Amino acid sequence: MSLKIYNSLTREKESFKPINEGSVGMYVCGPTVYGDAHLGHAKSYVSFDIIARYIEYLGYDLTYVQNITDVGHLTDDADEGEDKLAVAAKKQKKHPMALAEYYTASYFEDMDKLNCRRPDISPRATGHIPEQIELIEKLIDAGHAYEVNGSVYFDVTSFKGYGKLSGRNLEDMLSGTRVDVKSEKKHPADFALWKKAEPNHIMQWKSPWGMGYPGWHLECSVMSMKYLGDTIDIHGGGLENKFPHHECEIAQSEAVTECPFVKYWLHNNMVTVDGTKMGKSLNNFINLKQVFAGSHERLSKAYDPLAVRMLILNSHYRSPLDFSDAALSAAESGLDKISSAVKAVRRAAEKAPEGEMNPKVQKQLEGLRHRFEKAMNDDFNTSVALSVLYELVKLAEKEAGKANRASLNAVDELFSSLGGDVLGVVRESYPEDSKALTDLADYLMQDVIEKRAKARAEKNFQEADRIRDEMAKFGVTFKDTPNGTEWVMQ
Ligand SMILES: [Zn+2]
Repeated sequence: MSLKIYNSLTREKESFKPINEGSVGMYVCGPTVYGDAHLGHAKSYVSFDIIARYIEYLGYDLTYVQNITDVGHLTDDADEGEDKLAVAAKKQKKHPMALAEYYTASYFEDMDKLNCRRPDISPRATGHIPEQIELIEKLIDAGHAYEVNGSVYFDVTSFKGYGKLSGRNLEDMLSGTRVDVKSEKKHPADFALWKKAEPNHIMQWKSPWGMGYPGWHLECSVMSMKYLGDTIDIHGGGLENKFPHHECEIAQSEAVTECPFVKYWLHNNMVTVDGTKMGKSLNNFINLKQVFAGSHERLSKAYDPLAVRMLILNSHYRSPLDFSDAALSAAESGLDKISSAVKAVRRAAEKAPEGEMNPKVQKQLEGLRHRFEKAMNDDFNTSVALSVLYELVKLAEKEAGKANRASLNAVDELFSSLGGDVLGVVRESYPEDSKALTDLADYLMQDVIEKRAKARAEKNFQEADRIRDEMAKFGVTFKDTPNGTEWVMQ
């Protein structure tokens, strides 16, 4: 049983074999930091976080690079428009770098809440200007790029493979492009590597072609090759980046190195809200801080960030995800179910008798792990993996009151491994589960247990039932054993 990944480049599921045995390099296109992260970011970065976690689970030594775009991403993909950061900075009367700093911190804050592990390297585009200039010079020398009026463009006709990822050919691209008679490009599909800056443009750097700034696509080629080598194992990003962004990355890189830029291309699908594409003008553009605070009119309440993670896991990363208040609420119920089972098992394990691991439980756990891995090996099928986790919940509920400590610890370990390490929805500890609180509850419950025993001794069953029902509201049930009455919380 080995990992199979759907490769967008070959359009097939392929067996995963990294370039260097035992280690994996993964590059994922990061956010352009000019606003708060939204649901689309959550879908992309939770998906790749799970992919990263599962690759590590399989024992590979992973280096995960995810860039921060702080310059060059224009409001229009066709090399026109303004820099997204510069536009937002002007509006907020801030320096673009101050804005980038603010939203980078905001992005990581949200991703931490979603339990996305930090990438190993988060390189900034503005921190790699000399490297980007160097790559442009190499492209010009090799005849793949040309300079016009202080800007430099990549000549797409010089690179045979242009279009291989998105399945487009140059004629298709021509029919889809506005032919601008004033354009300085030789071919309408040529793309900018370097843009000449007007004197009032805030972000500009000195280059052999005058003052300017790099094209957006360039940073990913440069930073990917700098930190992971000429050919990397996995390159990920949103489906909307397949063309032109990733197509351009391939062209810029392979035209210079003459070797494959990426072995496996992975693309996550997009998010819709209540069945409609997210758009700022449609009032369905929801950012993560609004979800966590419940401060958007489409939301009925504040949500646990891990409920968002659960919702994303419910569908495959290559499938679109429809976000709604009802779907999120259902995902939160699922999360609560898992958390309750984990907490119950951990509490029960503390009180459970010593003993050998129950072979029947062990066999069931092994079966569940096997099925979980089978699902994840099938191009990271998280929705099936999650259904296996729910089966573990059922097993946990069945065993919590009766199994011995070794068996319960094994159940907890499987929760922590599959639900924690890989899916990231089981927490290492639950704050309300702290020892002090458990001890306090135990102390207070003695009173309740005595009251109930007294009522029963006096044959006051109405009062005994009242106590039972009252406690049931908190998920507490009583168990009468030869050593007295015990209480359990589900
Ligand atoms: Zn990129």
